[in-house]
Amino acid sequence: MTKIAFIGLGNMGSGMCANLCKAGHDVSAFDLNTDAVKAAAQQGAKPAATLVDAVSGADVIVSMLPAGKHVLSVYFGDDGVASHTAPGTLFLDCSTISVEDAREAASKAEAAGFPMVDAPVSGGTAAADAGTLTFMVGGPDEAFATAKPILDAMGKNIFHAGGSGNGQAAKIANNMLLGISMIGTCEAFNLAEKLGLDAQTFYDISSTASGQCWSMTSYCPAPGPVPTAPSNRDYKPGFAVAMMLKDLHLAAGAAKAAGADIMLGEMAEKIYEDLDSRGYGDLDFSGVMKDIKRQLD
Ligand code: NAD
Repeated sequence: MTKIAFIGLGNMGSGMCANLCKAGHDVSAFDLNTDAVKAAAQQGAKPAATLVDAVSGADVIVSMLPAGKHVLSVYFGDDGVASHTAPGTLFLDCSTISVEDAREAASKAEAAGFPMVDAPVSGGTAAADAGTLTFMVGGPDEAFATAKPILDAMGKNIFHAGGSGNGQAAKIANNMLLGISMIGTCEAFNLAEKLGLDAQTFYDISSTASGQCWSMTSYCPAPGPVPTAPSNRDYKPGFAVAMMLKDLHLAAGAAKAAGADIMLGEMAEKIYEDLDSRGYGDLDFSGVMKDIKRQLD
């Protein structure tokens, strides 16, 4: 049993925190939203009234926060985690943030004597609740080894992607590919339909031919072939346009800094930006299909 402080009990963090409790860890939970703290207590966590209460005496800090600025301020701001935990405490951040912010956080942590890993996730809220997330971890070997049993309680696939920031790098490169492949899949289904193939016929052929991809076989944007896909519930998320846009912005920023050409990534960013600015941020990201079919304003 490890003494864990869990910070950030939102859509993702609530299920992850509950799974750490289920695995028998001693978990103190904190969020700025007191209702989220109460809900975590019902799942077996100790409710903390403040960040300092949550982290005092913890061996591991797990965080699941909206963006890089929250991560940097929670850990290193005035009265942050680093001022109230003993050196050697593991900092395990699971938020999706920029590679740059993750590396800045890791070097601040190292300078203050704290091992830190970036461990963003793939899988969404259903996988967070079920404990089947995929974690992509960046950080030193020893820190990864300490983090692994904690991550095992929240996920199914745990990858060590290399040094600090590499977890975030894997996550944003993967999600950029997902955004591009989803748009391509929508275009292919729409073209096939316009040429006289129904969605199921095209799916049966393409899913066993060279066009096959996750966006098609697990999350088909055309209603019908994959019953669990959001396309069958009028594109209710799932993974919302606004979330995909956040990841594409992170990919674009990282590509600029690294001097990598991402022509299709930038195009995907524009397409999701356009949907978001027209008020469709809450639509599932496979809802690009509706736009291609000219069903949106
Ligand atoms: P969310 O907005 O539901 O939850 C974030 C929580 O952090 C909120 O409850 C908020 O009150 C809390 N918070 C913010 N600042 C805080 C602070 N200073 N101290 C304590 N608590 C604070 O977001 P989410 O959907 O749970 O996503 C969390 C992270 O996971 C994001 O980085 C997101 O990109 C990533 N992610 C989300 C999904 C998804 O499907 N929702 C999938 C993969 C990755």
